[in-house]
Amino acid sequence: MLILSGGTGTPKLLQGLKEVLDDFTVIVNTGEDLWLNNIYISPDVDTVLYTLANMINEKTWYGVREDTFYTHEQLKKYGVDEFLRIGDKDRALKIQKTLLLNRGLKLSEAIDIQRKALGVKYKVLPMTDDKVETKILAKIDDRVDLLKFHDFWIKRRGEVEVLDVIYENSIYAKPPEEFYKLKFDKVIIGPSNPITSIGPILSIKDIKESLKKKKVLAVSPFIGNSPVSGPAGKLMRAKGYESSALGVYEIYKEFLNILVIDNKDKDLKDKIDCEVYTTNIIMKDLNDKIRLAKEIVEIL
Ligand code: GDP
Repeated sequence: MLILSGGTGTPKLLQGLKEVLDDFTVIVNTGEDLWLNNIYISPDVDTVLYTLANMINEKTWYGVREDTFYTHEQLKKYGVDEFLRIGDKDRALKIQKTLLLNRGLKLSEAIDIQRKALGVKYKVLPMTDDKVETKILAKIDDRVDLLKFHDFWIKRRGEVEVLDVIYENSIYAKPPEEFYKLKFDKVIIGPSNPITSIGPILSIKDIKESLKKKKVLAVSPFIGNSPVSGPAGKLMRAKGYESSALGVYEIYKEFLNILVIDNKDKDLKDKIDCEVYTTNIIMKDLNDKIRLAKEIVEIL
């Protein structure tokens, strides 16, 4: 089983899937990776690692649960601008990743060392070892600007007019070598943002092509016209898609076999030209996550 993941919606589902399945591989978005004060930050990869290691901070879906922030606070006192609040334990993982990368290891190799150190039995792969960056083409006042994702979402809180979303360099990028050795015939696209989390993964041709030969199930991150959280609606509309499960279907339809949507969206069934399964897709607690994971595994 292969699972495509971003850093919030799919990790919630992973908490359920790991109670149901002994073996799967997660391929994770790295389009939002960045260097911050010489530390390499791979936000979605670290969230997936912490989720599978039972360490994730579920309040923010970022960093380690009950982490401390001594280093961050001290850096601030010294006048260092760290626009992401990095916890102390979380910083340790990021420093180790940086050391491994600086030693010449590929990102996929560094992540494999880390998931073993964290006791994670599931394989976690970055979508690529190449540099592919998600950028937001935005209109700010009367100017058009190409923003890094964090400039868009954290510094500007998503409050700009979005014209387009670009996966810089993706036509040249390949998945990690490990990807070509994977044996899987089923794929779950979790309820992650189709534009900024799954979009970058699918922008890598060899990954998208491989899906066409597999049984692919996707879970909608939308109920009605609103995503459960985050900027997916705005970004979908900027890309010319409806902000709904129907838009999600349009994005995935080339390779999609089954779409899981919410009971409240059951009227969309007739408009969607693949198998549709309706259920409660909100994951509030572990019971919801395990229930949805079991249903998905059963359908597949
Ligand atoms: P990011 O990397 O932090 O942007 O996270 P993802 O892309 O992995 O997840 C964000 C998406 O998760 C949003 O579009 C939400 O609508 C969706 N999401 C969050 N919680 C839930 C949930 O409980 N159920 C479903 N179906 N989607 C969810």
